[in-house]
Amino acid sequence: MQKSALLAALRSELHRHDFSTFVDEPPSIAQGGNGVVVTGCPTCIKKFGTMPHFLDHLTDDVLPLLLDRLSAPGLPPAPRSLREYLYRKIVVSTRTLGRP
Ligand SMILES: [Zn+2]
Repeated sequence: MQKSALLAALRSELHRHDFSTFVDEPPSIAQGGNGVVVTGCPTCIKKFGTMPHFLDHLTDDVLPLLLDRLSAPGLPPAPRSLREYLYRKIVVSTRTLGRP
């Protein structure tokens, strides 16, 4: 893979993630539910409270998935969120366990 393509892929993926806020377990209290606003990555629905933890999220959660996908082009597209990644992992492991 060319450096420019690698840089574009890394840039695109990293820009999907943000240190921001989201409603944990929506609907929010304002909408009649029990969800509260927390800090973290809204894309992955992952809670953390500091910039160092956000950087850990990028290096520990986001980059390994992206590099796996880039190193094996036959793999399906990258999951859109950590939640989707974990769902896929659970479904695959469940299917694998069910086989003889
Ligand atoms: Zn994220």
